[in-house]
Amino acid sequence: MAHTSIDARESLARLREGNGRFSSGTTRHPHSDEDRRLDLSSGQEPFAAVLSCADSRVPPEIVFDCGLGDLFVVRSAGQMVENAILASLEFAVHELSVPLILVLGHEGCGAVAAAESLTKQRTSGTPLALLPGHLNALAEQISRRLGSGGGEAHVGTSSLSGEPEPASQAAVNAAAARAEVSARSPLIRAAHEAGELALAHAVYDLETGHVTFAVEKTTTAPSNSELADHPPHTWIKARG
Ligand SMILES: [Zn+2]
Repeated sequence: MAHTSIDARESLARLREGNGRFSSGTTRHPHSDEDRRLDLSSGQEPFAAVLSCADSRVPPEIVFDCGLGDLFVVRSAGQMVENAILASLEFAVHELSVPLILVLGHEGCGAVAAAESLTKQRTSGTPLALLPGHLNALAEQISRRLGSGGGEAHVGTSSLSGEPEPASQAAVNAAAARAEVSARSPLIRAAHEAGELALAHAVYDLETGHVTFAVEKTTTAPSNSELADHPPHTWIKARG
């Protein structure tokens, strides 16, 4: 194996550090050489699973400055959650024992925009302009998420007045996707409740390259002490 097992705190720290390097233009492109490749030929031990948008501008390995064997990445437009996504994440949890699942959304997401357009049509009473293929189902799923408000973990940073700023739609969508992963997978939920797995979501800014993390306070896992340092309503700016 490429490295010894790490916990959720270390996993989050590595993601933050990697994004800090990426956003500040000091990437190292680690774990990309022949030695690493050969080292991994007998097995993998990624330190996090990431469910991100399929958007070409948000590749997790690049925005977190990671290399081969570091991240178990699952991608779908708008972080749409369905069976193939859940099975992939369950594999990462059950077979690879990842300590963290991060749902990564991003500002300027076309899937979120499509959902907002759908909601707008619906509330204004105009006849719905259906999207082709499966795209309508995608817009519907995200529209429901935005309507739900994304659960309790989506609140954004505090403004100068001390009032919490409303979360962006991208953040609401990412928070809701995280909640769906937990709600729809008894396997993932059990690992989370047993303190073996942390869940987090984050939003990527296309211009700055910064990832803003939101993490969930859990009660059981010592490995989640990183999360307990921050209330569930707190956003943590990535370093760098
Ligand atoms: Zn997107």
